[in-house]
Amino acid sequence: MTTIGILAVQGAFIEHEHMLNKLGAETIQLRQKSDLYKNFDRLVLPGGESTVQGKLLKELNMFDILKEKIENGMPVLATCAGLILLAENISNDTRTYFKTLPVTVKRNAYGRQLGSFHYDGIIKGIGKFPMEFIRAPYIEEVRNDVEILAEVNKKITAVKYKNQIGVSFHPELCDNDKLHRMFLNL
Ligand code: GLN
Repeated sequence: MTTIGILAVQGAFIEHEHMLNKLGAETIQLRQKSDLYKNFDRLVLPGGESTVQGKLLKELNMFDILKEKIENGMPVLATCAGLILLAENISNDTRTYFKTLPVTVKRNAYGRQLGSFHYDGIIKGIGKFPMEFIRAPYIEEVRNDVEILAEVNKKITAVKYKNQIGVSFHPELCDNDKLHRMFLNL
């Protein structure tokens, strides 16, 4: 039986919890350092504000422990701000975080006006998928063996690399649970 630790310092973590619970998975919320010593074998990094999440992770002394878990192969599903936390490079920000995913992302890449939109896209291995973008990043460049799972208007919006799935949209905000299922099978 798998238990998923969901980072819950800021952002849209409850929706991930509901979706994973519906799929029969146990979840725990990771709010403080002591939570990281509880038993969990998968990790969700939710959407929200990457700068705030990154700052809180450092202030709460959670950053290094989580980075080590990811580097040691713990399966991760990272959405939107979570994708930014994983990215090795951020083209329009000097701050970087875990740097475990060899991609370059652009934050708030769709501008302020077109900040939020819906797109019926396709995910490799899943098929049609309703993608909700909220002040989303996209992936400008992938390196090494990063597998591209989805593109929207020639911009990469979902990737897989070893133990990490990163998407620029919010799969927890739709009623399609197939990406979460893919994560549970990672
Ligand atoms: N714009 C946010 C950031 O830069 C991401 C938005 C989101 O997670 N929906 O961190």
